[in-house]
Amino acid sequence: MKDKLYTIPVTEAFTEAEGCPLCAIHDKLDKESVDYMMGPSYMEGDIRMETNKVGFCEEHYLKMYHMKNRLGLALMCDTHLQEIVKQLEKGADSLKEGKKGLFSKGSKEKPEILSFLNNISDNCYICNRIKDSFDRYVDTIFFLWSKEPSFKELVKKCDGFCFQHFVLLLDRGKELMSKESYSDMVDTLVPEQIRVLKELEKDVAWFIDKNDYRHKDEPWGNAKDSVERTLKMMTGSKVE
Ligand SMILES: [Zn+2]
Ligand SMILES: [Zn+2]
Repeated sequence: MKDKLYTIPVTEAFTEAEGCPLCAIHDKLDKESVDYMMGPSYMEGDIRMETNKVGFCEEHYLKMYHMKNRLGLALMCDTHLQEIVKQLEKGADSLKEGKKGLFSKGSKEKPEILSFLNNISDNCYICNRIKDSFDRYVDTIFFLWSKEPSFKELVKKCDGFCFQHFVLLLDRGKELMSKESYSDMVDTLVPEQIRVLKELEKDVAWFIDKNDYRHKDEPWGNAKDSVERTLKMMTGSKVE
């Protein structure tokens, strides 16, 4: 049996989640990671060394800001800013070396300082942390699908997947699963996703028709919130 650390939360999400179970796993990881960051973790040297180098994305800066631990955030910001200044001072001259202009000859290699700065722009300590765990949960889904018939039944009964996570399962599953298990998963997930998408499309089409005065007295059916439900399906997030 694979590590219970991963199988239990996966089984729980597929049993309890309202909506996409992978969104539920992701939301839980997100909340736990922000709580962890604003807990005592920022006082741990090895974690701070990483956050100094990587920083955070806008979404996670804001989530931490709203946790109201301004001092904790200040401590992390302080050493992160120090690290940026230190690297800029050390690497500024190397920016001018090598390639001189668009068509001039010279090394195309990027100076280290640019990689350092790009890493801060493109990365986030919390996003990276979530991704590591999330990937392991996704791998656990493939494991359980192949080994546990009862899990397959849980998947069949769940509320279905948002588009992003549906694609992720198809994409990563193709890489990681045996041909037989993958075919079995495709035969289960794809027809169900097509059914849900067709249903949504029908509701959106009726929403459009209802805006025509000729249909104004006919019942809405499920069309009224069909645009919101389509956005939720495509993004995984709740559109109010
Ligand atoms: Zn999702
Ligand atoms: Zn982030």
